[in-house]
Amino acid sequence: MSNNYRILLYYKYVDIENPEEFAQEHLVFCKELGLKGRILIASEGINGTCSGTTEQTDAYMEKMKADPRFADMVYKIDEAHDHAFKKLHVRYRPELVTLRLEDDIDPREKTGNYLSPKEFYEQMQKEDTLIIDARNDYEYDLGHFEGAIKPDIRSFRELPDWINENREMIKDKKILTYCTGGVRCEKFSGWLKEEGFEDVNQLHGGIVTYGKDPEVRGRRWNGQCYVFDERISVPVNQEEHIIVGKDYFTGEPCERYVNCANPECNEQVLMSEETEHAYLRACSDACRVHPRNRYIKEHDLSEAEVHERLKKIEELRAEV
Ligand SMILES: [Zn+2]
Repeated sequence: MSNNYRILLYYKYVDIENPEEFAQEHLVFCKELGLKGRILIASEGINGTCSGTTEQTDAYMEKMKADPRFADMVYKIDEAHDHAFKKLHVRYRPELVTLRLEDDIDPREKTGNYLSPKEFYEQMQKEDTLIIDARNDYEYDLGHFEGAIKPDIRSFRELPDWINENREMIKDKKILTYCTGGVRCEKFSGWLKEEGFEDVNQLHGGIVTYGKDPEVRGRRWNGQCYVFDERISVPVNQEEHIIVGKDYFTGEPCERYVNCANPECNEQVLMSEETEHAYLRACSDACRVHPRNRYIKEHDLSEAEVHERLKKIEELRAEV
């Protein structure tokens, strides 16, 4: 299969006047090019990931480079053999990333020290270093840096509270933060500095750049990197692959994310094909018997068949 498609990942903190209007124009522009993906526009900048043919993505980057605001925007480029999105969304948002801080941080004024992949690799192995994963828990669960701390949070906006609760453990350490492409750490590390932490550092270009770096080759990364497109995950460590993901039901090594079959839940859950069938692709009993369970519909299961599976789950539970 030929790789004549590409997936772009990019962001830039820059003033955008009339961001709502800009978002509408940008939507038209991307549509005309034939791109698909999700692009967020705020008065503080742009944060996007999109897919298209080599020609389409080239045309996009060229046009953006001609705009002084985005002339130096960095693109992380992955080769692909098809689109990585079903649709195109270009949306205005009040913030590029949702931290919901009381006082918003402008990373252009305050942000953590940028570390290259090589610097990050070296610093990460020193004592008194604290590596904080600035992503959501389901991203961490699929893969993370060796020794990285997973803040006990469901989403990025809960991170400041977590830091406040763990201030004692953190305060005298060298802090390293990282996220997928870097856009979240720009703000998060800026916020840490604002909060009085002194030695705050961020992985420049994020995990995606780290995995492509010819020198570090993704070393000390375990598992896969969660991405927000149809691929769901991409490899990082070019030298070894240690699976850290665990099947939600059995705890066995697993890197297969599927959405809970209850459309009202839709939670992403790691499960093998085997446990998907056994547990009706649902995260809980309530989701299993939900009247709109998609697994039951897709497999055309009769009530008796559903009952049979539920009985088996009960038996498995009794064994444990
Ligand atoms: Zn569920």
